[in-house]
Amino acid sequence: MTNIAHTYYPQTGFLVVLGAGESGVGAAILAKDRGFDVFVSDKGAIDTSYKEQLLAEGIAFEELQHTESKIQQADLVVKSPGIPFNVPLLKLLKGKAIPVISEIEFAAQYTDAKLICITGSNGKSTTTMLTYYMLKNGGLNVGLAGNIGKSFALQVARETFDVYVLEISSFMLDDMYHFRADMAVILNITPDHLDRYDYKMENYVASKFRMIQNQTAADYFIYCLDDEELVKGLSEFKTPAKHLPFTQLEEVCEGAYLDKENNVVINVPNKERFTMNIEELSLHGKHNTYNNMASGLIAKAQQLRNKTMQESMGSYVNIEHRLEHVACIGGVNYINDSKATNVNSLWYALESFSPDIILIMGGVDKGNDYEMLRDLVKSKVKAIVCIGKDTVRIHESFEDDTEVIVNSSSMEDAVEMASHLSKKGDTVLLSPACASFDWFKNYEERGDKFKNAVMNL
Ligand code: ADP
Repeated sequence: MTNIAHTYYPQTGFLVVLGAGESGVGAAILAKDRGFDVFVSDKGAIDTSYKEQLLAEGIAFEELQHTESKIQQADLVVKSPGIPFNVPLLKLLKGKAIPVISEIEFAAQYTDAKLICITGSNGKSTTTMLTYYMLKNGGLNVGLAGNIGKSFALQVARETFDVYVLEISSFMLDDMYHFRADMAVILNITPDHLDRYDYKMENYVASKFRMIQNQTAADYFIYCLDDEELVKGLSEFKTPAKHLPFTQLEEVCEGAYLDKENNVVINVPNKERFTMNIEELSLHGKHNTYNNMASGLIAKAQQLRNKTMQESMGSYVNIEHRLEHVACIGGVNYINDSKATNVNSLWYALESFSPDIILIMGGVDKGNDYEMLRDLVKSKVKAIVCIGKDTVRIHESFEDDTEVIVNSSSMEDAVEMASHLSKKGDTVLLSPACASFDWFKNYEERGDKFKNAVMNL
């Protein structure tokens, strides 16, 4: 069974791809293979490597403009998740009733592979990579796609995987309608990207719950029982899928929990019970215990042997920029958590370290409410060094909670200041809780600059 019946969208004709990034170029190639007449349009400049790929495939494209007269001839439009739905071009297409869908929705029509889909405000990449690592170690013929790595559509076009682990963002979900996940995971729902959701939390929650739409009784729904917004949403958004909750607050018969001896216990009906002490997990911190629970539930539902799971969960090395230990200089530990782009991920970072912390934070504020950090800042943070443009809110929020709050003029400057403010035994933590686009190209550049500055101390 494919994950979307072919009946929903045109299968021939003129297909336009908006946005020539990884997902757009992949979708264009798959569409070309399937016999569509394809045109790719990007309002910005297209990366050279993608241009070369399009030229090699003989796919027509334009950059630095959208030729509306041409685009509105489309039978089907595949849109990059980066383009907000309220731009004039999309309104025009909507007015003409031309279907606009995501790359994931488009590609799912052309594969029979099992689709394991992971969403949430935080922990998506970590959980996706850990799951992929575990399933691969279990001998499955598994692909990795979505918000991470190579485009899903390109892999559907050119590879033959039996299973995919897909990292799915809310922006992707917004353009998914008939897609069905064999396994849907919602890790957590905490405020993020509210600027794209009219600053209404309920819109963002509804977007995340699109992950379970179209699921059947044969599928699995894996979710965190300790997350307030998620639990609230369960009464509104329902699915016949088998429910597997995970929690650190209580024992559950079916799902995953933490027992009194700090063992992660995984119970999937009709599968062998799995336990592993949190000390043996390679990823530390409360948040990573949740991520391990979610991955463990997927692995167990996929019939992985306990030994494989144990070895994988004990040896997985996380990707860069997530609570990454950079160096210990003069007894001070420097931690790069540049991927912390919202308040909740900063909360878990502060939770993971003991006092005293010198916190480097700031950047593009996405409508942040810092209130939930107050207690942790009070008890653990000795000084805050602000980076980026939006420092006023940080000063206002924490002026009574920590002794020192200073602004910096660059990442080098911030690291220098943090090093002066620290003494042996302290932790200097870059965990910005903001997007990076004011001073940096992306969070990777922000993290790399931090690491370079630390190494130059
Ligand atoms: P995403 O892909 O959802 O952005 P990542 O795995 O890249 O998630 O982690 C992003 C940030 O969130 C990092 O700072 C990480 O330490 C933190 N984090 C990871 N897992 C969780 C979780 N389950 N809950 C809260 N924060 C988390």
